Amino acid sequence: MKRFHTVIVGAGPAGLACATLLARHGKEVLVLERNSQLGKKVCAGGIPSATLALGVPADLMERSFTSQRIRSNWQRIRISDQAPMVCTVNRQRLGKWMAEKAQQAGVELRTGTPVLALAEKKVCTRAGEFGYDFLVGADGSGSLVRRWLGIPTRRCGIGIHFQMPGEFAEMEWHLDATLFGEGYGWIFPHQGSASIGAYAGLAGRRPHQLLAGLRQWASRLAIPLPEQPRAALVNHDYRGHRFKNRFLVGDAAGLASGLTGEGIYSALLSGEEAALAILDENHDGAALKELIRKQHRHGRILDLAGGFRIGGKLITEFLLTALRAGLLSYHELEMGLHPPQTRSAP
Ligand SMILES: Cc1cc2nc3c(=O)[nH]c(=O)nc-3n(C[C@H](O)[C@H](O)[C@H](O)COP(=O)(O)OP(=O)(O)OC[C@H]3O[C@@H](n4cnc5c(N)ncnc54)[C@H](O)[C@@H]3O)c2cc1C
Repeated sequence: MKRFHTVIVGAGPAGLACATLLARHGKEVLVLERNSQLGKKVCAGGIPSATLALGVPADLMERSFTSQRIRSNWQRIRISDQAPMVCTVNRQRLGKWMAEKAQQAGVELRTGTPVLALAEKKVCTRAGEFGYDFLVGADGSGSLVRRWLGIPTRRCGIGIHFQMPGEFAEMEWHLDATLFGEGYGWIFPHQGSASIGAYAGLAGRRPHQLLAGLRQWASRLAIPLPEQPRAALVNHDYRGHRFKNRFLVGDAAGLASGLTGEGIYSALLSGEEAALAILDENHDGAALKELIRKQHRHGRILDLAGGFRIGGKLITEFLLTALRAGLLSYHELEMGLHPPQTRSAP
């Protein structure tokens, strides 16, 4: 049985970010990915511009936006900034770029290799067993590693989307409580296409209700959605990320936002933070703690909004009014009503 310093299950942004950093510090790292193609993830690809600070190059962005349109049941607003606030990225291009970086750093990456079972000091695949000193579960919202660790997942959202060809000018968020509950519908333009979709917490919206809301909204906008949607769960049930020599990162750790369903930034950051904690027992993990606090605040807003329908609508309208009046900035809202703190580069 071949032994590695770290075995990482899953080659999404969380797993590859973790692997690259470890390998750059001379560690022998194996990444096992069940898909044969990287980056094939149901995702709208919207990322806050802060993601660029994590080393994702600007030329990988499909589009970037200095303004966004937000609509609710009662209001229509446009928020703008001088610098781009949000971008879109093609997940396959991101996956390919991250895999190249990982392999250049010396990571052994095996695609088409699902992890089937886990044991105390080894992981099992059809291609054989691999020993580890450290194990990182970066295997997304349905994480096998998480289940093996005995950690339940009770707080989950669902995202449904269609990648539609065409030119779409603006990034749009539709907070229509009738159609999407405490969730929202979106148009995230890419080059020559757009992700059109909807996200909501599973506690407040059944998947078929969310899809019906999405179809109704798209037909109002005269966007002919095809028959077959693509959908996936988004785990936002954070219950810890370090369990002795085992780590959970990204969606496997429940680090996506329950409010917006965004998880790419969290995946990249938590992947790097796990690597830093593996490399240095005394790593303070301040950036990860800040991320966890932010996601906790998002969870509280979600609970408030989902608790009672009228209250949820009022909170949405109040936040939009505050945004429109300049009492609240987009960045504060994105950070869960608290301004972001800067992160020191690894
Ligand atoms: C419809 C939809 C739209 C979304 N839009 C956005 C958005 O606009 N912006 C945003 O920030 N986030 C968005 N998200 C969330 C985002 O996609 C995730 O938060 C992000 O991909 C998490 O990254 P990750 O690396 O943790 O997991 P993933 O990207 O899910 O990667 C996990 C990897 O592990 C692999 N894997 C799983 N099990 C095994 C196994 N047993 N063995 C080996 N490999 C395994 C998978 O194949 C996958 O490659 C969206 C989600 C959905 C569903």
